Amino acid sequence: MELNENAQVDTSQVDDRRGSGGGGGLGIPIPGGGGIVGIVIAVLVALVGGGFGLNAMNGGGAESGDNTSLTQKCSADDALKQLDCRNTLYVNSIQAYWRTALPERFGEQYQPSRTVFFSQGVNTGCGQADSGVGPFYCPADDLVYIDLTFYQTLADQLGAEGEFAQPYVLAHEYGHHVQDLLGTEAQMRRQQQRDPDSANALSVKLELQADCYAGAWAKNATGTADEQGQKIFKSITEQDIAQAIDTAEKIGDDAISKRANRPVNPEEFTHGSSEQRKQWFTKGYTTGDPKTCDTFGGSL
Ligand SMILES: [Zn+2]
Repeated sequence: MELNENAQVDTSQVDDRRGSGGGGGLGIPIPGGGGIVGIVIAVLVALVGGGFGLNAMNGGGAESGDNTSLTQKCSADDALKQLDCRNTLYVNSIQAYWRTALPERFGEQYQPSRTVFFSQGVNTGCGQADSGVGPFYCPADDLVYIDLTFYQTLADQLGAEGEFAQPYVLAHEYGHHVQDLLGTEAQMRRQQQRDPDSANALSVKLELQADCYAGAWAKNATGTADEQGQKIFKSITEQDIAQAIDTAEKIGDDAISKRANRPVNPEEFTHGSSEQRKQWFTKGYTTGDPKTCDTFGGSL
């Protein structure tokens, strides 16, 4: 993967709430020193599509950060050496894709959603969250939340290395935003209430669809551009796609259970097995068409 160093990083699409230093990245704040259980729990709920059991609408999410230092940093010549600037550019690419694809393929206008960079803990429209929950989308305030140190957890604890894991994670979360815009998420929650026995199975379908949407973005990412029309990616290789697929496999529910030496129980899956996650990301990537991401098979 090669980013275009001439592409302009649009920091208005993120909300930097990491504090005045804008630093972060000092390690993974797992309470009590962490350990494999804490980290497994962190990753279990990683990439969750909102609804992570926190109280909705408790007044959080309204605050916003100060992007001044991020904006300065990301307009410098070597901006793309910086993790936060690169991630901002990934967000720019993902949203540029949906700005075109949503009207084209679903007949709906795309509404942008910012990504909140936070460190350790954050107030959201879905309640207070800490880094342990991993990146997530909150449907109550329409924002994506990520502590960028999560990528280190992915690499260290799950062996999911490679830069392309990062845009995959973000594209998955924006997939949840698209589900929110299309009403899929709300329909799925209603269906869960009507049929609690199938709540986990429905959650899996929502997650797999977000993986498939991420695949559709990956296929079209080299066509995305900044506001001046500069291409964001110079190239995305088969190796990058393989890294995304590898990440999808490593965060499958069965893979996580095995790593934690817990029994693999498909009925408890909430995000899908490794095989399913790989399969749906690949489907989105192969077709390049989010319309083919019909994980619900007309069951909503
Ligand atoms: Zn998810």
